Amino acid sequence: MKIILWLSIAFPALAAPAVEYRISFPNAVHHEAEISATFTGVAQPLLEVVMSRSSPGRYALHEFAKNVYHFTAAGAAGNPLTIVRPSPYGWNIVGHHGTVVVHYTLFGDRADGTYAGIDETHAHLNLPAALVWAHGFENAPATLAFDVPVGSSWRVASQLIPQSNGTFTAPNLEWLMDSPVELSAFTSVEWPIQDQQFRLALHHRGSQETAKGYAKMCQSVALEAAGVFGGFPRFDNGSYTFLIDYLPYVFGDGMEHRDSTSITGTSDLKDAETHALGTVSHEFFHAWNVRRIRPRSLEPFDFERADMSGELWFAEGFTSYYGPLLIKRAGISTLDDLAQELGRAVDLVLTAPGRETFSVVEMSRLAPFVDAATSIDTTNFRNTFISYYTYGAALGLGLDLAIRRRFPGKSLDDWMRAMWRSHPDIDRPYTLQDLEDCLAEATGSSPFAHEIFTRHINGREPLDYASLLAAAGLQLRKVHPGKAWVGPDRFETSGGGVKISEATLRGSPLYAAGLERADEISQCDGKKLKKTEDLRSCIAKHAPGDRLNLDYVSRAGSKRAAVIAAEDPAVEIITYEKAGLAVDSQIGSFRAAWLGSKAPHLKINEPVVVW
Ligand SMILES: [Zn+2]
Ligand SMILES: [Zn+2]
Repeated sequence: MKIILWLSIAFPALAAPAVEYRISFPNAVHHEAEISATFTGVAQPLLEVVMSRSSPGRYALHEFAKNVYHFTAAGAAGNPLTIVRPSPYGWNIVGHHGTVVVHYTLFGDRADGTYAGIDETHAHLNLPAALVWAHGFENAPATLAFDVPVGSSWRVASQLIPQSNGTFTAPNLEWLMDSPVELSAFTSVEWPIQDQQFRLALHHRGSQETAKGYAKMCQSVALEAAGVFGGFPRFDNGSYTFLIDYLPYVFGDGMEHRDSTSITGTSDLKDAETHALGTVSHEFFHAWNVRRIRPRSLEPFDFERADMSGELWFAEGFTSYYGPLLIKRAGISTLDDLAQELGRAVDLVLTAPGRETFSVVEMSRLAPFVDAATSIDTTNFRNTFISYYTYGAALGLGLDLAIRRRFPGKSLDDWMRAMWRSHPDIDRPYTLQDLEDCLAEATGSSPFAHEIFTRHINGREPLDYASLLAAAGLQLRKVHPGKAWVGPDRFETSGGGVKISEATLRGSPLYAAGLERADEISQCDGKKLKKTEDLRSCIAKHAPGDRLNLDYVSRAGSKRAAVIAAEDPAVEIITYEKAGLAVDSQIGSFRAAWLGSKAPHLKINEPVVVW
């Protein structure tokens, strides 16, 4: 009773919680932004203001609070409030009367999908790296006002909702944090599809013609993505925005969001068009796969701890399979390009020792340690881990071919569509079991789905790629047949001969013979080694099964090892045409069904340069 009375006196006519941000750049040249956040309708006596520690789509902790300073807090009348630090990423504020205004300086000099990049040419902001928020305000609407530098012609591109007074809004914290912002004099290209608008905000040093040509390619791959699912998602704000920076001082990255993507690269867009398009294709596919078709393990996303998901092989890996496939379906790349790219993924899955340690589900759960995570101690990931991007892309390829062969007329596209029907948005997230159920639904075979999950997804058995690829007129073959190999280990020339610069690979001849990272090999077959090429030419004189005598120095002193060379296990995928094999009509129709355009037949307008 007493508390209620106190509250009614302290907070007469308390407004609904809301937050207003004001962001300005008076010291952009030194990579600083000045940010104020006004929290109104603060019901709790102690307001816990925090900086995010993780960001959706990045799975390691990044501790964004490290670039926040000059932090102050005041009441509505400008009266200073007491700040207590409960943690390195939090500020507890007491003594307020329902309104708290915090102010801080943000430093940011890394323009990419995760951090903040501020300089005289732009501010490229991932909002978890830029904005504080407060506990209890997760469902509060946010308003953002940007003060662009005086004399600049910066504009704002974002999936935030523009208001007529020049501010932007987000209905809640999740939308706010999911909305990267590009402020610069970017080139703006737009095109409508049906009743939705597609926008390309391209910050680069090229011409408007390059921007327009690039927009046309984005349009083509976006249509192919829609072809997989049978239509576009309903974008929350009726538009989808590609925020693309191709500048020498940004950092290469691509990050998916619900209705936008942030893509950064360092080369000239003209030279990097195809590579950049691969990122566009991947990130746009995420508008369905991971942003709407959402694993339950990531929902709701926790901004204050590392989020773990056993489904990233599907969310990231299958997206990595569709990325190059959509470009091929759009007619922009060749089957050779596709075979080469997917061949690298299959090679790694078949030859890297990590597959024996973890299943692809368990690999996915390691994301917080490998997804742009930093640590100074050595890990054994070379022997225990394969990226869920790579592993998942190889699985996507193998399963697509397996479904097409076993269930004529069906494909991985059917599995994706079944997932979208059953899990159309984040309020109906999926589990591993849901993935298996949808595969059973798409193929009409529960035993098939169960076997795939038991052996190849929860299990560690690779698919039979050689036979699956044959149906498409693709050959899986050794890259260096008959060539002696002691391990794909990296060497460097050193004072004592040739040094092994990375952990030797489990199962390789060097590993079996007891050699390890930092060992220095001084002689091969009694011949002194002066540089890495000497070791390579010594190995090249041998055939698989031969014995090489290596003299080396390890931590335990001078040693001699007999290393039994193996055959280089590296594989690649090539077309039957390249292999000199016949491509019959059956292969022709298999390829047409797999690689032909699936773009919906819609009235398509040319992209138009707006600015
Ligand atoms: Zn920019
Ligand atoms: Zn991705």
